[in-house]
Amino acid sequence: MMPMADRMTRIKSAASFATLARAKAMEAEGRRIVHLEVGQPDFDTPPHIVEAGAKALRDGHTRYTPAPGWMPLREAVAEHVGTRLGIAVAPDEVVVTPGGKPIIFYAVMATVGHGDEAIVPDPAFPVYSSVVGFAGGKVVPLPLREAQGFDVDLDALAEVITPRTRLLVLCSPSNPTGGVLARETVRGIAELLQEHPRVMVLADEIYSRILYEGEHHTIAAEPGMRERTILLDGFSKTYAMTGWRLGWGVMPRAFVEAFTRQQINVASCANAAAQVAGVAALTGPQDDVERMVETFRVRRDRLVAGLNDLPGVSCTLPAGAFYAFPNITGTGQSEASLAETLLMEAGIALLPGTGFGPGGAGYLRLSFAASMDDLEFALAGMAKHLGADTAS
Ligand code: PLP
Repeated sequence: MMPMADRMTRIKSAASFATLARAKAMEAEGRRIVHLEVGQPDFDTPPHIVEAGAKALRDGHTRYTPAPGWMPLREAVAEHVGTRLGIAVAPDEVVVTPGGKPIIFYAVMATVGHGDEAIVPDPAFPVYSSVVGFAGGKVVPLPLREAQGFDVDLDALAEVITPRTRLLVLCSPSNPTGGVLARETVRGIAELLQEHPRVMVLADEIYSRILYEGEHHTIAAEPGMRERTILLDGFSKTYAMTGWRLGWGVMPRAFVEAFTRQQINVASCANAAAQVAGVAALTGPQDDVERMVETFRVRRDRLVAGLNDLPGVSCTLPAGAFYAFPNITGTGQSEASLAETLLMEAGIALLPGTGFGPGGAGYLRLSFAASMDDLEFALAGMAKHLGADTAS
C-alpha cells in the first residue's frame, strides 16, 4: 500500500461519525435504529433562514467572499457577541469559517508547536486532542469529575500548567458532560493565567445558548483575557444548521491574520450564501431558538429521569448542551461493550464515554436532540437489556 506521512497516525476519527456510519448501514438493511450518537438538532433550519440562503443564491451570492468572512456577517457577529457577552467586539476581530470546527484547527496550528503542551479537559470533544497530536503537540489532560459537576478544578489546573503550555481548551456548556463552568471557576482560571502569560485560551462556546440552568460566563469578559482568548461559536447547534457549515471565532487581530492565512490555504472562505443566511439568523426573530431549547429541556428531563430509573445507572442533570452522560459503572458492564450491545441488539446508537477521552470510562453519551418517540424507544430498549422492572 502507498505509504502515508507519519502525521496521519496522529489525526483521529471521531466515535460519533464512525458510529453514525455503522448505524446508517444497519438502517439500510431495514432495522429500526434510534440515533442518539451524533450531536445535531433533529429540527429543520428555521424557514426565514432557509429563505435568506435560497434568495442569496438567486441574488448572485455565488462567488468567493473575503477569506475572513463577508463583512455584513462579521459585523452582525461582532454586534451579537458583543451585546450577549458584554464585551467590545469589532468586526475585524471576527473570522467566519465553514462550521465551528476550523476554529479549533486554526487555533491549535497557530499556538501549539512541536513538543508544546495543550491542556485539554478529559472528557472532551475529541477533535481538540486529535488536532493537538496532528500538530506535533502534547495533550495534557485536565480531569473533569462528576462529583464536582464536571467543573474545572482550579488546583488540578494549576498543577498541569508548565513552561511549555501554550493552549488551554475550555468548553462550556460541555460536550459530552453538559457541565457549565461556574462564575468563580471562570474567574479563578483567568486569575491563574495571569501568572502564565504565554498561555492562550480556546473557549468553545458553541452550546452557550443551549442552557437550562444558571448562566453562561465567558472567560473573554475577565480582566486581561480578551487579548488571550479565541472564542469559538457558530450556527450549527443554535440554529439547527449543521449541514450549512458556518461558524465563527472572535479573537485578537494578530490571530485574525493568522487564521485568515490558514483559511486561504484550506477553504478560501465559508460558503457565500450560507453567510448571507447567517446574517438573517443573527438579526431575525429568535423565537425558533427559544422553542428548540424549551423542547430540548422537556426531553432532557424525561431522558435523565428514565436513565436514573435503570438498574446500575445514575445520571446528573446536564445544565447545558443536549447530551446526557450517565454513569453506568453500577451495571457491571464496560461502556464499550454496553454501547456495542445496545446498538446490535436494541437498535440504539449511542457513544461510549471513552470516545471523549480516558476520563469517559464508565459513562455513555446520549444526545437528546432526538424525538421523544426515539428517546422512549431507547429507554425501553435499555430497560429490557439491563433487566429493569418494566412495570415501573
Ligand atoms: N465544538 C463542540 C464542543 C462541538 O460539539 C461541535 C460539534 O459537534 C463543534 C465544536 C463543531 O461544530 P460545527 O458543526 O459548527 O463545526
